[in-house]
Amino acid sequence: MSSPSKSRRRAQRERADSYKAIATEVGVPDMVLLPSLTNKGIVANLKDRLEEDLIYSYIGNVLVVMNPYKWLKIYDQQTMRRYVHRNRVDVAPHIFATGEAAFRTMISEEENQCVIISGESGAGKTEASKQIQNYIASVSGTGGNDGIEAVKKVFLDSNPVLEAFGNAKTLRNNNSSRFGKYFELKFDRFGRPLGGKVSNFLHEKSRVVKPGKGERNFHIFYQLLKAPKSVKQKFFLEKPTSYNYLKQSGCFEVENMDDREEFETTDNAMKSVGIGDKRRDAIFGVVAAVLHLGNVKFSPKQIDDAEGCSIDADSKPSLEKFCDLLDLDAKAIGKALTTRKLQTMAPGGKVETYSVPQNPVQAAGRRDAMGKALFERLFDLLVQRVNVSLDVKKIAKKIGENLVSAEDMLSLGVLDIYGFEIFDVNGFEQLCINYVNEKLQQIFISLTLKAEQDEYESEGIAWTPIPFFNNKIVCELVEGAKPPGLFRVLDDTCKTMHSRGETALDRGFLDNLGKSFGSHAHFRKIGTGRPGFIIKHYAGDVTYDVKGFGEANKDVLDKELVLLLQATGGSSGSASLMPTLFPEDIDLNDKRMPKTSGFKIRNQCGELVKTLSDCNPHYVRCVKPNDQKAPCRVEMSRVVHQSQYLGLLENIKVRRAGFAYRAEFHRFVERFNLLSPDTSGPNMKIGMADKEAAKSILRNVKRQYGVELNKAEAQLGRTKIFVRSPEMYFEFERLRLV
Ligand code: ATP
Ligand code: MG
Repeated sequence: MSSPSKSRRRAQRERADSYKAIATEVGVPDMVLLPSLTNKGIVANLKDRLEEDLIYSYIGNVLVVMNPYKWLKIYDQQTMRRYVHRNRVDVAPHIFATGEAAFRTMISEEENQCVIISGESGAGKTEASKQIQNYIASVSGTGGNDGIEAVKKVFLDSNPVLEAFGNAKTLRNNNSSRFGKYFELKFDRFGRPLGGKVSNFLHEKSRVVKPGKGERNFHIFYQLLKAPKSVKQKFFLEKPTSYNYLKQSGCFEVENMDDREEFETTDNAMKSVGIGDKRRDAIFGVVAAVLHLGNVKFSPKQIDDAEGCSIDADSKPSLEKFCDLLDLDAKAIGKALTTRKLQTMAPGGKVETYSVPQNPVQAAGRRDAMGKALFERLFDLLVQRVNVSLDVKKIAKKIGENLVSAEDMLSLGVLDIYGFEIFDVNGFEQLCINYVNEKLQQIFISLTLKAEQDEYESEGIAWTPIPFFNNKIVCELVEGAKPPGLFRVLDDTCKTMHSRGETALDRGFLDNLGKSFGSHAHFRKIGTGRPGFIIKHYAGDVTYDVKGFGEANKDVLDKELVLLLQATGGSSGSASLMPTLFPEDIDLNDKRMPKTSGFKIRNQCGELVKTLSDCNPHYVRCVKPNDQKAPCRVEMSRVVHQSQYLGLLENIKVRRAGFAYRAEFHRFVERFNLLSPDTSGPNMKIGMADKEAAKSILRNVKRQYGVELNKAEAQLGRTKIFVRSPEMYFEFERLRLV
């Protein structure tokens, strides 16, 4: 056995080596220690580091990632191994360190964990979430059980499936997730994954019928159109330019993306998540049906006194293909698109049904509502399918585990959800997205503050709260019950003005908002230009255009159309999916307003917040350095803006509410032992308790260097030392080198 002094010398050598690693660091790896507390200071630090390929930094235990837009060799098995069983502070900042902390804390504390990833489109959230998933899959055990290996495969392969149906090329990102995802892996007490669950939010279904200029529809459409001929023939498919839902955006290809190869990947991944050949074909059939539906066009036709329409002769074959694939009655569908049934109460209480002709715009609206509903529900079905394959009970049974009960499981979840959106024109979808982000910020503040407070309390350190902006008031403005918030005002307006035109409905909503929130500090109705309003979000002011709010909130697919889709004649192929896609009981006499989009979002968000609040959170903030997807280039103004709305500065302030630096005594002593003769050199006191050793370092620094840390500057808790200002911490670092 080596003598204590030998091992101490070795430790010193190792420390010198690790210091070299830190000394070659650029800027500060943990921005809690930034000397200047401004957004510019944060951005300068991130920029300096990115230019040296250091894409990760911390704010305490929040990981900040700069998208490098080039693949660095930092995700291999060898790098992964460096993070296994290592504490965050002992290794360079990395997404693997976040994965490691979440995984190990889950096992050691027997507590559920979540990793919340945020950032704007293209900032790298999905890549980060996949890197965490890979890390967890790689480091979690299997106990030699093939069944558990299979769970990991389903878990990883669900990504390409959900991305094919939920991601699209946008102007900001070639592989933009157009849905939010919370992916949980469930573990037994030994850290073996036995299943999981995916929850999806806010699928952007409007893209199915109207992708923006220069953008694309969801990847799966293009992939299917590049499938082998034999597959395409089954679904009567031609080339991408033949379909209205694709061609209106003018963009068919994505740089560096081969749709043919991607089709193979999706196809294999579908198999892997348990979708057999028959079901896969049924799913592809629905995708193809949506494309054919989009080609159904209408021309005006006078019907008695009303302006009606008829289906264009040259688009009738498209309607037939749509109906063939889903086994529907083309005549009935054609009629239901071009006319709408209206029921009225005649004198004497008799219900009379009229057929109201639809003009071409209205008919196209009915067609699109059907296309959107089909694709959205197909996406939900895929999520369900993945969840069946990851069902803990089923898996436990399969692999012969009987001790597992759902309550016994530990969970590690990763939330990848769109970040704040501030566009030139912001609509209902942006409001929903920004509202969810507002809620996430709220739990971030409360959980981070709570964690700080808990730590100070358990360490016996005096806690002086520091004021910062609490965004509860903005959340209430949007979701409030009493007084009714924006979503409720919108629901009420939809209810009372349901028979009015869309424009009148949107205007009515705006007027009602003005009445409710005219004097609210975070709301302003716009007096001129486009009718709309401004909400002062925590991340900045966003101007919303009120146009389309009513329609987006009502989000109805006419009951008559649902009944027809349910009346499919087939029990095989895509038709067999219809009962699962449209399971609702339709009662034509029920006049209540169906659940609105705002209502659903509020509920989903409430569930999400509840789940996250029961977990120990880890945060990853992704930053997009430029809009050109250029490697390692930083546009200062873009990053300053993101730093603002990701709340990085707020984050540092909250984290520094008390103390900038904290470390367990033994870590502090290991790092600064050279600063006291009691802890280093020939007269070193062997066997000194860590806390005593820390005190001796503080005493000696005062005696030898005249640097005094009074009670306000440094406090010794039960297991940790806390240092208030970063300057003082850096003084210690400087003295180490003297
Ligand atoms: P959205 O909100 O649109 O879904 P996102 O935040 O999920 O955006 P990603 O799709 O993860 O963004 O990343 C966009 C692109 O940036 C990736 O396709 C990849 O090219 C690049 N990228 C992201 N993270 C990294 C990384 N760690 N290393 C190298 N390139 C990356
Ligand atoms: Mg994404």
